[in-house]
Amino acid sequence: MYSFNIKLLITIFIAGRLMCNCATLHPIRTALGSCYIIETSKSLLLVDSLWPHNENTILKVANEIKKPIVCIFLTHAHADHYGSAKEIKAKTDCDIVIHQDDGVDFEMGKTSIEHTDFLGMIMKIICLPIMEMITRPSGVKQNICIYDNWQTNIDDTIILAIHTPGHTKGSVCYLIDDMLFVGDLADGYGKIQIQRHFANNWTEITNSVKMLIQYKYTQIFTGHGNYVGNKNDFFVN
Ligand SMILES: [Zn+2]
Repeated sequence: MYSFNIKLLITIFIAGRLMCNCATLHPIRTALGSCYIIETSKSLLLVDSLWPHNENTILKVANEIKKPIVCIFLTHAHADHYGSAKEIKAKTDCDIVIHQDDGVDFEMGKTSIEHTDFLGMIMKIICLPIMEMITRPSGVKQNICIYDNWQTNIDDTIILAIHTPGHTKGSVCYLIDDMLFVGDLADGYGKIQIQRHFANNWTEITNSVKMLIQYKYTQIFTGHGNYVGNKNDFFVN
């Protein structure tokens, strides 16, 4: 019953289709965050998996594309990014990738927040406990823990995981073709803006953004907000 109500409450479903170099991007945006399906020649990759109870929304898009989800790449262990991963894994037998420094929180179904601004504090002490009471995800133990700057190939697509700590210890950006998926390192409400509401370490957030300048990408996709940025957007704020 909860899943039906929660879905009605939080899911504003906007599925689009964007063509990139080799892979095709299918963004799935909800009121509480975004995830991304990347279509390769034979398979689907998923970057993040939204809050719990969004698995059917994601699987519906995958079924329409008619290719299997083979791997979920998680940007970090916050429930609005990994919440539906367990259910999608159960239904597709896909792999799940997460950085080792966020692995324990993910296995335990936790969302750790250290430092906040005022808005972040409200979210931490009021909104998150309410959301966890009704939608807390259960952990997943069988997953692939990655280390700093890990790379893999799926079909004809190269996926580079870049360790960008700061929001959480194990936050990762994924570089796929010319697309950079940044999770909560930045948000995209009208522009690309470095995320300043929650942090494990504020200084590390700034250092992670600066470090990204060495990589070759043209588009930035955030975990929250609809704005798709380019590389220059990241370095003007
Ligand atoms: Zn987060």
